[in-house]
Amino acid sequence: MDRIQLLQGDITEMHVDAIVNAANRSLLGGGGVDGAIHRAAGSKLLEACKKLDGCETGEAKITLGYRLPARYVIHTVGPVWHGGQIGEPEQLASAYYNSLKLAKEHQLATIAFPNISTGVYAFPKRQAAEIAIKTVADFLKNDTSIEEVTFCVYDDENYEIYEQLLEL
Ligand code: ADP
Repeated sequence: MDRIQLLQGDITEMHVDAIVNAANRSLLGGGGVDGAIHRAAGSKLLEACKKLDGCETGEAKITLGYRLPARYVIHTVGPVWHGGQIGEPEQLASAYYNSLKLAKEHQLATIAFPNISTGVYAFPKRQAAEIAIKTVADFLKNDTSIEEVTFCVYDDENYEIYEQLLEL
């Protein structure tokens, strides 16, 4: 699938139409990639997020990117891993799907995702990658408006997993 790219690095530096934030339900900032995005975007991002009234797990909301090179930030909330029997895989798929749906609604062509839920939320990395890749590939099969989806991985373990699954 040539519309799916893999890159290792800091998502806050990406020049794309939208980067996706692995946020928490408050949308008021946090650690990990969420903290990095808020630091890089500046305080206007938090001001915008305060108006959104939070976000349910598996849903997504959009703001401008402010000082980021990315024009927009799509804030989505992945599930906290509790063993996998209470809908975590489906919720993770929804987080990817609803982020792409929002990007399409806003006519955005290039989107970058972090590895949602695989940090503090402790979703097993390989299973998360399988869900992420399948959800994105299925979406792109039925859509021509999104030109490129980049998986922006941060840690070496996720990089190796994605490299293997994407057969790069
Ligand atoms: P969650 O709470 O959804 O698990 P985290 O932010 O803790 O969110 O982790 C999600 C993923 O984001 C992890 O794989 C982590 O390595 C990665 N990450 C952390 N900082 C950055 C960054 N600046 N750019 C891209 N990915 C990042």
